[in-house]
Amino acid sequence: MKKTDLGTEIYDHAIQCGFDNCGIISIDAINGFKELFQKRINDVPQSKFFYDTVGDLQGTKERFPWAKSIVLLTFNFGKFRYPKELQGRYAKAFFLHADKNCKSGFDLPRLEQWFAKRGIRAEGGDQFGHISVGSLRYFAAKAGLGMIRKNNFFYTENGSYNTLFGYVIDKECELIHDVKLVPCGEKCDLCQRACKSKALYSPYTIDPLKCVSYWTTFGNSDIPEWLSSDMFEEWVCGCDNCQDACPHNRRHDWNTGESFSNLDEIAPLILPNNYENLSDEFLIEQVIPKTADHMQKSEVSALRKNAKRALNYHSTTYEGK
Ligand code: SF4
Ligand code: SF4
Repeated sequence: MKKTDLGTEIYDHAIQCGFDNCGIISIDAINGFKELFQKRINDVPQSKFFYDTVGDLQGTKERFPWAKSIVLLTFNFGKFRYPKELQGRYAKAFFLHADKNCKSGFDLPRLEQWFAKRGIRAEGGDQFGHISVGSLRYFAAKAGLGMIRKNNFFYTENGSYNTLFGYVIDKECELIHDVKLVPCGEKCDLCQRACKSKALYSPYTIDPLKCVSYWTTFGNSDIPEWLSSDMFEEWVCGCDNCQDACPHNRRHDWNTGESFSNLDEIAPLILPNNYENLSDEFLIEQVIPKTADHMQKSEVSALRKNAKRALNYHSTTYEGK
C-alpha cells in the first residue's frame, strides 16, 4: 500500500463516517482516461449518444482546475437484505443506494464537515448526481479499491453491489491499495449469457442502446424497434442480470441481512400488478427517490410503462394469458 500522512487521516475519517474503504489518487493518475474513453467511443460509436446524455465524464481536470487529488469511497450493500418482491424487478444498487436515516449507512455530510474543519477544499459526494466528479469506476480502480470486470461493473472483494463516491480535494496526498482480487476467468461469459438483450455483447463492451437498465431509466421507456418487450422480463427499473449471474456476487444471500429503510413495507405495494392502485404522488414520493438519480419526478409515466410491460411479461410467461 502507498500512503501519505494526510491520506491516512482522510481514510480514518471516511471509515468513521460509515464507508467500507477509501483510496486516494493524485489528479494526474487519471491522465489515461481520455484515451480509454475515446477508444470506447471508437469501438462502440452508438455509445456516444449515451455518454452525451450522462454528461462530461472526461473533464475532471477542466471542471476542477484547483484539484490536486481525488478521494474515492466505497460502500457495500451486501449487509442488507432485499425484499423478494423487488428482486428481478428493481435494481438492487438503486434501491439500496441512499437513505439519510439509515443507521447502517454512510454519512457524507459528516465527512464534508470534517473536510471543512480540516481546511480541505472538497467537492463531489452527491453534489453532481450520477456524473459525480468523473469516471468513479476508473478512478477507484486506480486507487486499488477493486477492479472493473468483464460486465463493466466495479467489484470490491464483496462483489459489484456497492456504491462509489468521489471528492476532488485541493491537497496533495495518496492512499493506494494493493488489489487482491482474482480476475475474471478467461473463458467465463456467464454475464454475457445472462444479458437477454445482448447489450453485453463482448467482454468489457456494452451497447447502452440495447441495455434494459438504460431503457427503463434514462431512456424514458421509449423502447426502440431493435428490442422486444420480452427481453425486459419483469424489470421495472434497472436490470441486475449480468451482475446476478456472476460467481463473484454469489457470496450474499439477498434474503438475509439487515432490513433497509422502508423497503419491506413498500415492496408488496409496488409490484407491477398494483400500479393501477398507486397515485402519481405515491410514485413521486416513494419510488422515484429510490432510483439513485436514474429517474426524475417528471418521468412517472415512464415508470408506469415499465410496470405495465413487466406485468404483461408475467401474465404471458407464468399465467399463459
Ligand atoms: S444491465 Fe441488463 S441489459 Fe444491461 S448489460 Fe447488464 S444484463 Fe444486459
Ligand atoms: S460473470 Fe464471469 S466474465 Fe462476467 S464479470 Fe463475472 S467472472 Fe467476469
